[in-house]
Amino acid sequence: MTPKEVLAQIRQREVTTVDLRFMDFPGVWQHFSIPADALTEETFEEGIGFDGSSVVGWRAINEADLLVVPQPETALVDPFTAQPTLTMICNIHDPITHQDYTRDPRNIARKAVAYMRSTGIADHCLLTPELEFFVFDDVRFDQRSNEGFYHLDSVEGAWNRGRVERPNLGYKPGSGLGYFPCPPTDSLLNLRSEMAQRMAECGIATSAHFHEVATGGQCEIDLDSQSLIESADQVMMARYIIRNVASRAGKSATFMPKPLFGDNGSGMHTHLSLWKDDEPLLAGHGYAGMSDLGLYAIGGLLKHAHALCAFANPTTNSYKRLIEGFEAPTKISYSRRNRAAIIRIPVSGASPRSRRIEYRCPDGAANPYLLFSAMLMAVLDGVQNKIRPGDPLDKDIYDLQPEELAKVPTTPRTLDASLDALRADHEFLLRGDVFTPDVIDTWIWYKQALEIEAVRSRPHPYEFTLYYDV
Ligand code: GLN
Ligand code: MG
Ligand code: MG
Ligand code: MG
Repeated sequence: MTPKEVLAQIRQREVTTVDLRFMDFPGVWQHFSIPADALTEETFEEGIGFDGSSVVGWRAINEADLLVVPQPETALVDPFTAQPTLTMICNIHDPITHQDYTRDPRNIARKAVAYMRSTGIADHCLLTPELEFFVFDDVRFDQRSNEGFYHLDSVEGAWNRGRVERPNLGYKPGSGLGYFPCPPTDSLLNLRSEMAQRMAECGIATSAHFHEVATGGQCEIDLDSQSLIESADQVMMARYIIRNVASRAGKSATFMPKPLFGDNGSGMHTHLSLWKDDEPLLAGHGYAGMSDLGLYAIGGLLKHAHALCAFANPTTNSYKRLIEGFEAPTKISYSRRNRAAIIRIPVSGASPRSRRIEYRCPDGAANPYLLFSAMLMAVLDGVQNKIRPGDPLDKDIYDLQPEELAKVPTTPRTLDASLDALRADHEFLLRGDVFTPDVIDTWIWYKQALEIEAVRSRPHPYEFTLYYDV
């Protein structure tokens, strides 16, 4: 849509309110509204000022002003508002220089795509995110209700998950048994269908939705492939729709990576493919139908795996998901079938056009603009420097001898460790000015000061179990 077409739609659909949205630094959608008749063609050029100092991770108070510049191609009518409201996603500009603001995650994503094109390697990058999340009946959900159902120290333990002695829960699936009996055990079918329907009305195509593995409440909705910016925009709109449909049903949806101890967490597996002149660059005759370029792309993701976790798994809670036994990946390796590896090459679909890399680390706390940009930069580094990925991890990790297993490196155990890795390994992100040194420093500072220290300094509920009566 052009600005003229947006203005025409406002008249046609009798829109009263225009809602302007943008992504903040940590990854939360922010917004403010203006009366529809305040939007003119000039607004699309000049933007509208707001106080950037009150947005987390942005400007200092002495240089507070920033501009939102609405992007007409993102316009859609909001499915939840009482007043007819048109929403648009905005880019952020500096009001003095009129340049794109360097800490705007959407700007970083646009630079990543421009950099990809400038290398001549590919002209298109497609991303396909799988959104996992929990729906809880009550925002004051009490996680103690899940205790007692985990027996995971052995393979048999995993098989027996949820089948240990417990009271009859009616149709509530036990821990690890949510994937995927029909209703009434899956009590969220109608809610997910409504989410997918609202998405379709907003131009977001989905490929499937279902109840996920964890006990009653874990859901997955898979989005279709889109180019990088569109995909990140869609992730934000999809999260918005998921939260609002749940909220209207008196429930709450969360993308927190690991809300329940002893059961599966929620990931955001993201599939990636590269294209040039409409040819799929990852397809070839190597391992799992990959081209050399495809294997180098994997090499790049593996080489930078630790640093990437700073964007793929950006919360202290993320590392409670990245442990063994819950289908979350922990092994820095790749495989066509082993889901313990951080990279899987799905071999369903024989067509070379379906050849893609599934990167399994990310979780729903990730800022999709920063995550997709960082993934693409690692992939490009792999291709430019012909980084070989080593041997695939094709054995089930349960079959490997402990000595063999110990040789496979693992994902970082804490957010601290991921930030250390990013501090040591971010040169590949700075190419083409995509991530600036200021963005890397601010990210590390923000995560360390406002999240890691904040969590570290608070008594943990489990410390009461361990230490209250010592
Ligand atoms: N929930 C699992 C994770 O954390 C994935 C489960 C699956 O999709 N097979 O990544
Ligand atoms: Mg899936
Ligand atoms: Mg899943
Ligand atoms: Mg998957």
